[in-house]
Amino acid sequence: MTERYDQFIAGGGLGGLLSAAILAHQGRKSYLVEKLPFFGGRFTSMRYQEFEIPTGAVHMIPHSSNGPLGQILLKDLNLPLKIVENEYFTAWYWSHHKPIIHRNFWGILKTLPRMNQRLFMFRKLLSDARHSDRHSESFLEYLKACTEDSQIFQFFNALIGFALSIDISQLSAAAMFRVFKRLHQKGRPGVPIGGCKAVTTALTDYIRGKGSKLQKNCELIKLEMNGSLIECAICRNRKTNEEISIRANHFILNLGNPQINEVLTKSNLSYRLPHVPTAQGGGFAYRSKESTLRNSVVAYFPENKYVKGAVEPTILSPNLAPPGEHLLLTHQVFHSTDIIRDTRRARDELLETFPQLKEEDELCIHTFYKDWPVNYACQGSDLSNFSSIIPNLFFVGDGHKGNDGWMMTEGVAHGVKQVVEKINEQRSD
Ligand SMILES: Cc1cc2nc3c(=O)[nH]c(=O)nc-3n(C[C@H](O)[C@H](O)[C@H](O)COP(=O)(O)OP(=O)(O)OC[C@H]3O[C@@H](n4cnc5c(N)ncnc54)[C@H](O)[C@@H]3O)c2cc1C
Repeated sequence: MTERYDQFIAGGGLGGLLSAAILAHQGRKSYLVEKLPFFGGRFTSMRYQEFEIPTGAVHMIPHSSNGPLGQILLKDLNLPLKIVENEYFTAWYWSHHKPIIHRNFWGILKTLPRMNQRLFMFRKLLSDARHSDRHSESFLEYLKACTEDSQIFQFFNALIGFALSIDISQLSAAAMFRVFKRLHQKGRPGVPIGGCKAVTTALTDYIRGKGSKLQKNCELIKLEMNGSLIECAICRNRKTNEEISIRANHFILNLGNPQINEVLTKSNLSYRLPHVPTAQGGGFAYRSKESTLRNSVVAYFPENKYVKGAVEPTILSPNLAPPGEHLLLTHQVFHSTDIIRDTRRARDELLETFPQLKEEDELCIHTFYKDWPVNYACQGSDLSNFSSIIPNLFFVGDGHKGNDGWMMTEGVAHGVKQVVEKINEQRSD
């Protein structure tokens, strides 16, 4: 008879690891499988020429220690991690001007070039945000109805393009207002010392230390039912090709939504997740002797067509680069299917934005699309139902952030908390 676990978890990205860690903290044993040869998914890094090159996340935690992720890592689990808050929210580079930097949320409007634009947006956003749920139109339609000022469009295009990796037309005004609310409440971004990998390592150490099992190179193939509940997960060891069957009380899937549907199909289950649009994009990693962004880790370039923003996490965590060097990570939304052409144009634009960068200092190009996207659900299109019609089957990850305005990994952490609560409710019934 095989051992029965409290939870089976498929996918060792941040969503799966956070789930296993919180449940381990509550005394529950999980069996987690990850198909790749490393844990962390899109929230870790690979060492290349002594730089920590991200597999996805650019080493930023959207609300430092003040959001749901910081709460879990530092307060609930008390992991040996340090998240350094950025001294500024963001810096804005309008051409021919010194970057405009702001420390608090409303200060972002100060980064618009003209006083009348700042006052107009302040009044408009303040009054409309109070009735955010009335705004079902896209943020683009919302803006068009408010103004014809092209710099205001450039401003929001950069903000949404870089922070959320989507086009301004892909986000509803209500979702944008919810993001603003969270930014206002929870404040500035930060970088964990050691970047995303430090977080992933702290989580895997914690989970193992509590006696749960983590297995790399192991892929979930299908689920098997017994009556109305899932009874076991059939997985394949990708090194040995051996099939293993894992029995558990609860099953948590931290896969992308299309991969979840693939597993459901192979399991002959009729339930499917609805299709949601993904966020896709790409970027560059550059090395430099001098800091490119100097004081604010996060920078926006509103007049650029491609590269709308960049981060330099080494300002807060110098150990992400070899001594005396910096790591600059840029990002752009993919607007066409010709990724190679757009990437070339983006590089030209970046080198024009920062003439001190040299092409030979390019460490790599990143692309994030199909089954390795920026986000499995564009902000605001997330599935907020974290469970299926099968009572012991749950979903976590960035297709399931809920629609509460939490961005990126803050949304992943928020979703994991909901799932753990649901599991605990079931246990106490
Ligand atoms: C360019 C870029 C920049 C970003 N920057 C930031 C940032 O700075 N800050 C931030 O907060 N967020 C950022 N994000 C978003 C963040 O990286 C993701 O939201 C987060 O990492 C998603 O975690 P996840 O657990 O949902 O998914 P994943 O990390 O994708 O984890 C899912 C895991 O499931 C595994 N898997 C898939 N199928 C199977 C199977 N059948 N069996 C077993 N395992 C399977 C995959 O290999 C993967 O490891 C960024 C993303 C990108 C791409």
